[in-house]
Amino acid sequence: MTTEILNNIQVMDINDHKEETEESVVPFERQIIDAVIEIWKEDPSTETLGVPKLHGLVKSRHKNWALSEKRVRTLLKKYGLLANNPDQQYTYASEITSQETPDMDLPDKIKVLQTSKKGKGLYAKKNVKKGDFLWEEKPLFYVPPLANMTLIKNGKACSYCGKLLTQGTRGNSGVSYLRGLDCDVCSEIWCSKECKNTDSKIHASLKHNVYHPSKSNTRKNINANAYLALQDYCLKEQWNALYSITRIYADIVSDKSGVKERQFSAMARISQETRYKALNSSAGSFDNFQGGALFVQEQQESLWKEGFSLFSNVFPNSVDEGKINYDEFMYMLGTFNINNLDSVIFLIQSHLNHNCEPNTTVKLSSNRTEGLKVYAARDIKAGEELTTSYVNPSHTVQQRQRELRVNWGFRCACEKCKSELKEQHRRKSSSQKSNSEKDSIREMLSNTKAELGDTEITLDDPKNPSKERRKSVRFDEKVIAVSK
Ligand SMILES: [Zn+2]
Ligand SMILES: [Zn+2]
Ligand SMILES: [Zn+2]
Repeated sequence: MTTEILNNIQVMDINDHKEETEESVVPFERQIIDAVIEIWKEDPSTETLGVPKLHGLVKSRHKNWALSEKRVRTLLKKYGLLANNPDQQYTYASEITSQETPDMDLPDKIKVLQTSKKGKGLYAKKNVKKGDFLWEEKPLFYVPPLANMTLIKNGKACSYCGKLLTQGTRGNSGVSYLRGLDCDVCSEIWCSKECKNTDSKIHASLKHNVYHPSKSNTRKNINANAYLALQDYCLKEQWNALYSITRIYADIVSDKSGVKERQFSAMARISQETRYKALNSSAGSFDNFQGGALFVQEQQESLWKEGFSLFSNVFPNSVDEGKINYDEFMYMLGTFNINNLDSVIFLIQSHLNHNCEPNTTVKLSSNRTEGLKVYAARDIKAGEELTTSYVNPSHTVQQRQRELRVNWGFRCACEKCKSELKEQHRRKSSSQKSNSEKDSIREMLSNTKAELGDTEITLDDPKNPSKERRKSVRFDEKVIAVSK
């Protein structure tokens, strides 16, 4: 509870007498919900406020709204936004399934265990010291950065790693060297022989239909024109998940061994539709979809359908063979969203479960194609589970809990969350007394004001200097896994 908020409420109450003379309007449901979310976004600490205070805050911002406390309560309940009863909030962790991962080479210090409660997880096989190197791995599925796609298309960034090709680099490299790194067919370019060697085959199947001319009588697995259309669409819509699963599926259909397909389908799996239910019951962040929290459901569904139709066009064979349908597409989106690290999917790292105080440090190489290294963040005993943080540990406990519930479907019960919630509860109940004192002061002031006329009166709280206001953290901030 911050001083500003208390002040707002008091000023608002005092001014209420005046507001009644202004023309009042009855707000729409969505306007009310949006107003509440706006308040939460600006100051996450307001998430713990009860309905009467939230109602007060909404009224202070929309003085002409005819809005009862009861209506705010009913609506918050309807949208599942009542933070007071977290047990009623939607979680979906129990609907996430996973299978034993095939063909995985594990480093000797680590083992995988599957439990009914937590699914798959990584555990230490022996005692590990703080700072010890645990393993390194290259991406299982690497996805070139969508953000650099315009540069890539114009030959200004590497078609694979996305590295910018500055004038200097091109000059220093010399014309003949660069010529070897150009694509023969389109205007795209690679920064190095490694990037070109790794990417050129998939590049050709995705971006031009000239690959394997000898097999022109057999249908291709990938329709390049359809892929380019999808890529432009994803760029326009900033829909990174659709773009990423298309790249991933292109890898899968190009992998003759079938290992990548088996590994991807063994990952923690969930439908995007299921995840979306959690978003609908929260102001939390979700993907990097624009539109924010309460994106209207119908609008959302038509977007998914549009995405699915573009996706199906890229892989006509898989559609014919019945490997892709709308449901499976939704599962691919959901599975990508819960397993990716900065749009890249790692086989071993994706087995790490979450803790707000993780015992490992995951270091991503600055060159995204190179992968990551994992170290022990503290001493770890044999048999202990290895963990990473899916969210920014410096966020408030409410923020973290919301992000984790929406994005990964569970309510975090780690020690850090438990102790911070307990501490908050303790502070809240000890401040309850002073709040009721305030209420009576407020009433007195209000009466005084009625006697004095329209003089502005604000109330300062000497016990609670205004410096305490928490830094506002936006809900729609991209959720990233951090390892500190
Ligand atoms: Zn490169
Ligand atoms: Zn090309
Ligand atoms: Zn936690």
